[in-house]
Amino acid sequence: MDPKNISNDLKSSERMPIMFIGHGNPMNAIEDNRYTKKWREMGKQLPRPQAILSISAHWLSRNGAKVTMMDKPKTIHDFRGFPQELFEQDYPAAGAPEYAKETQRLITSTGVAEDFGWGLDHGTWSVLVPMYPLADIPVYQLSIDYGKPPEYHYEIGQQLRALREKGVLIIGSGNLVHNLGVMQFHAEPYDWAVEFDKKMEEWMRSGDHRSIMNLDSMGELARLAHPTRDHFYPLLYVLGLQEPKDKLEFFNEGIDLGSVSMRSALLK
Ligand code: ZN
Repeated sequence: MDPKNISNDLKSSERMPIMFIGHGNPMNAIEDNRYTKKWREMGKQLPRPQAILSISAHWLSRNGAKVTMMDKPKTIHDFRGFPQELFEQDYPAAGAPEYAKETQRLITSTGVAEDFGWGLDHGTWSVLVPMYPLADIPVYQLSIDYGKPPEYHYEIGQQLRALREKGVLIIGSGNLVHNLGVMQFHAEPYDWAVEFDKKMEEWMRSGDHRSIMNLDSMGELARLAHPTRDHFYPLLYVLGLQEPKDKLEFFNEGIDLGSVSMRSALLK
């Protein structure tokens, strides 16, 4: 038996779903729109997690990963130029140090440092406010080492599969297309945004993870869809976590602000 799959401390569960969520505009935390409506529904419909692990586009590290170990993660308002109401949002969920330790133990391909300084960034809480408004499920985060290639992120996802049987709901929070430099309010989607989003859909449906990871081969299309890779990488953890028996369901399809794909995926 693989000792990596045994942890006596954490309660076993049915296999939890995994999700890639396009979080988009931070205002989604407090707005009532079609995206947040779906997040609210999911919070009610999904099996209740024992803990939530978020891998957010907004926590990047270097020289390895970090995992939050604090009992009470603070709510981080990591944005500028938004209404005061958004800065006043607090998501008082507890941390999940036991689950974080297990996460650290499962990841053998890279160093994972214990973190007591981060908390919950808006990639995490803007989604969880509508999804689990009571903030009564412990939440922790794993950082993304921005200096590493796609395979590195995918491989970490593969190593985290055992958490699904420990009641952990794992969420990758980013966007399938994310170009803030050209976004416009009330804009029609750019052709390249639609094209890239469509390609991602096709490859996710066919399970062609190789093509997704080979972003560089897409040249200009990839540079337009992801001038930086931060909102793309969370997807790779979710794909690494995917098991053959998982069924893929898309939700919140559509391009917001011309250049931000909100397409999200539930795998269960
Ligand atoms: Zn973001």
